[in-house]
Amino acid sequence: MFRKNDLKGDALCKDCFFWAFEEEVHKTIIDANLFSPGEVVAIGASGGKDSTVLAYTLKTLNERYDYKLDLILLSVDEGITGYRDDSLETVKRNQQQYELPLKIISYKELYGWTMDDIVKQVGLKNNCTFCGVFRRQALDRGAMLLKVDKIVTGHNADDIAETVIMNILRGDIARLKRCTAITTGADGALPRCKPFKYTYEKEIVMYAYFKKLDYFSTECIYSPNAYRGHARTYIKDLEAIRPSSIIDIIHSGECMAVKKEVKLPVQGTCSRCGYISSQEVCKACVLLEGLNKGLPKLGIGKPHKVKKLEAQGKIFTDTKNPKFVENRDADKGSMANNAAALDF
Ligand code: SF4
Repeated sequence: MFRKNDLKGDALCKDCFFWAFEEEVHKTIIDANLFSPGEVVAIGASGGKDSTVLAYTLKTLNERYDYKLDLILLSVDEGITGYRDDSLETVKRNQQQYELPLKIISYKELYGWTMDDIVKQVGLKNNCTFCGVFRRQALDRGAMLLKVDKIVTGHNADDIAETVIMNILRGDIARLKRCTAITTGADGALPRCKPFKYTYEKEIVMYAYFKKLDYFSTECIYSPNAYRGHARTYIKDLEAIRPSSIIDIIHSGECMAVKKEVKLPVQGTCSRCGYISSQEVCKACVLLEGLNKGLPKLGIGKPHKVKKLEAQGKIFTDTKNPKFVENRDADKGSMANNAAALDF
């Protein structure tokens, strides 16, 4: 017997658990009006359990309820030897198993750096900052190349609760305001959706395991994000006392309102690559400039240090980032779609 949901306490047989899992995701999709017939939807696919279950479930529901979606797997190759190369093999098998098209886009082709190269230069302290910023943008670029209407990601309820806690601890009001949204960037050209917003991680693990799905479960060799790890441990402790903690935290995040007087960052456009940014130069361009100039801490600290170096003519001496501009032109799409990338 299985428990679909600790809050409801329903005891279910295996087949009923599968059905309940899929129906809850379907309900989330319908209630939030996530898709429209005829849309092309890119599934951010890493080969891990969340995105593998998402691809399988979306394919199942698309056929069962005739959503009329064109689904595509979209993977980002960060260039992490012994980790991403192995997980991408899983995605390639998923492509065959689920009969979905697959596009892989790499940091090397977009930025000229692999994560292996970046770690050699920056070490293991801030590597996840580079990886996270580049991945969010890479997914958008890949989606634009494919001319999709939406991106879906496998972020689950546990991930969202962790993000709420992290944003509270960092005092990041702007992200706190939008991190619980099931769809972000809806007013731009490329919305991002999270169909697993209300799905617990343990349910996803059980579903993947008992469905015998082919997924990759090894952790990144450059270690998990330590800060997120603390938030995760904290929430697990809370859950032991109060089982509804995850959903409660998401609900709290949804209900938080920001006073009108609070100045929030205004999103404009990066002067170098054209992607949306709340600074004159976006984070990806600053980090890339730091790598290319042998200043790996550029973009890690306070923005005023970047401005100071720029005023001294030590960085951004070329007016544009040729690699980005070249890729942006190739994307042939509006760059006003990167707002969503900053949300998670
Ligand atoms: Fe990238 Fe850090 Fe995740 Fe590894 S743990 S894939 S370096 S964000």
